[in-house]
Amino acid sequence: TYILAIESSCDDTAAAVLYNDKTLANVVAGQAVHEQYGGVVPELASRAHQQNIVPVVHEALRKANVKKEQLSAVAFTSGPGLMGSLLVGTSFAKSLAMGLNIPLIDVNHMQAHILAHFIDEEGFDKPLFPFLAMTISGGHTQIVRVDSYFEMTVLGQTLDDAVGEAFDKSAKILGLPYPGGPLIDKYAQLGNPKTYKFTKPKVDNLDFSFSGLKTAVLYFYQREIAADPDFVEKNRNDICASIQYTIINILMDKLKKAVKQTGITQVAIGGGVSANSGIRKALKDAEEKYGWKTFVPKFEYTTDNAAMIGIVGYLKYTENKLEATGYTNTQVMAQSRLKL
Ligand code: ATP
Ligand code: FE
Repeated sequence: TYILAIESSCDDTAAAVLYNDKTLANVVAGQAVHEQYGGVVPELASRAHQQNIVPVVHEALRKANVKKEQLSAVAFTSGPGLMGSLLVGTSFAKSLAMGLNIPLIDVNHMQAHILAHFIDEEGFDKPLFPFLAMTISGGHTQIVRVDSYFEMTVLGQTLDDAVGEAFDKSAKILGLPYPGGPLIDKYAQLGNPKTYKFTKPKVDNLDFSFSGLKTAVLYFYQREIAADPDFVEKNRNDICASIQYTIINILMDKLKKAVKQTGITQVAIGGGVSANSGIRKALKDAEEKYGWKTFVPKFEYTTDNAAMIGIVGYLKYTENKLEATGYTNTQVMAQSRLKL
């Protein structure tokens, strides 16, 4: 089975070709245009997708050495995401599938961040059901109980900002370019995480909150910069390490709680923030300390990519779930039962 997958939910135009559960090509075109605005500008994102979509799909097919006539199905991200961005990938995927007369498979982006663990990769184990998945990305922060490919229950999620936003907004306050998450990670590795203290939010159950941390970082910055204008320059590594340490603690506290509540000790992470070195290390430590089995995606499957859309397409295709509907927005996901 050859699947062509298309992802265009935010600011990356991505296409991938899979042969069964193996990635043959995984192409991502980022959009530098947003950097100067310090965040994604939806209208500019849609326009860049329109420019990129044809060359990116061509490149994926070329790299995979697959002709479009060989394709078994086309999979695409139907949501959640920016409407204008999603429309570009959706229209392209629909027309292509129609033109080739092959099935069109809609894929939920958050489900894909989780099922990326089922892409066949050397050196990477696949989780066994049931397992817990913590999706940590630019728009979401959720703990999900995964009973099968298509049975997922959201146990908790953020009540305000996503964890990726907490990284990006903290970075913005410190004067770092967008997206700041990877830069905080880079500087954090050179700093002392215990230098500055930021209070952790008190949120019940398995839900998260990150808006308070953002405010705490802002007040901290304003106070310190008033006393010494070079404060950030002098202490960047320690500041980044302290912010990252606080965020990782918030995430790990909730994960521990989820493991305790469910008795499930297989824990996977997914989404852009799963690229973070701090969370990767914290999970490794938890394997030794608590006996969990943890799953961290291969780096190229952490931030947005189309291979993760392709694996869901492949699973839906082979499990005969073509008609299964995905989720189109987080509100629906929040209603606890994911009908996929
Ligand atoms: P969603 O998946 O919720 O719709 P998205 O698709 O925009 O959101 P992803 O591409 O999955 O998000 O993740 C992007 C986020 O990951 C950004 O906030 C970015 O800063 C963050 N991120 C990427 N690498 C790192 C890292 N090494 N450390 C911390 N954050 C990171
Ligand atoms: Fe994403």
